Amino acid sequence: MLNALSFDVEDYFQVTAFEHVVDRCRWDTMETRIERNCEKIISILGDYGVKATFFVLGWVAERHPILIRTIFNEGHEIASHGFNHTLVYRQSKEAFKEDIVKTKTILEDITGSRIKGYRAPTFSINNDSLWALDILYDQGYVYDSSIFPSVKHNHCRFNAAHRFPHLIEINHKGKLKEFPLSTLKLLGMNLPIGGGGYLRLLPLKFVERGIKLINKKEHQPAIIYMHPWELDPEQPRIAAGMLSRFRHYVNLKTTESKLRSLIRTFNFTTLSKLGTRLFSET
Ligand SMILES: [Zn+2]
Repeated sequence: MLNALSFDVEDYFQVTAFEHVVDRCRWDTMETRIERNCEKIISILGDYGVKATFFVLGWVAERHPILIRTIFNEGHEIASHGFNHTLVYRQSKEAFKEDIVKTKTILEDITGSRIKGYRAPTFSINNDSLWALDILYDQGYVYDSSIFPSVKHNHCRFNAAHRFPHLIEINHKGKLKEFPLSTLKLLGMNLPIGGGGYLRLLPLKFVERGIKLINKKEHQPAIIYMHPWELDPEQPRIAAGMLSRFRHYVNLKTTESKLRSLIRTFNFTTLSKLGTRLFSET
């Protein structure tokens, strides 16, 4: 069973948890850690010959084009994480369209290759912003990986029936591939196990049993995500509220060993390759 591995390429100060304390106009003044952290990921993936999808912020790509080209030249997939991490449901349709077109163009200019995939900042395509899927399709995106099924917290309120990759019909024009992040059905709820803070909080054995259940009992691939800053326990600390700090800093030291163990235990590929395998290419 092939699973998909992905990284959301943003720096430690660009996350939604800190947006109220680090204004976007200050981003250029912050110490950047994105190059060293992405190079660490490339090296780890190289140790096992694994390819992954990197959802890159347009803002990061503009400032680090050589890094993005290096990731691409290593055989990984480059996809879009939007330009500057503005949540989808806070944007107008026009602003969202401009954001995804701009980011796609920046990434295509750097890689010389078509950008097929999109992941919304903090999974912010929810029941209130489903219009985003139509715009993604219209602007040439082939797949989306922005939906956390039935996860209820500040940003993700998508009450999806589908927990697994599926096709979404777009106004009788065609189909967009959707790759929801992995959840486990537990006590009638969907428990996220697919990455980020959940992966840092949960014991590795629990996550591995969850992926085995998804693969062997439900016969479906797991969709896993991480961030470069999650492999950087030494990153500068941001003064923010307790909850934001907990979300961002809990168990950072465990991420690298969890990543290595997951790669050793399961088979991973890019979202694009998984999509081609699951659905006929569109
Ligand atoms: Zn992000």
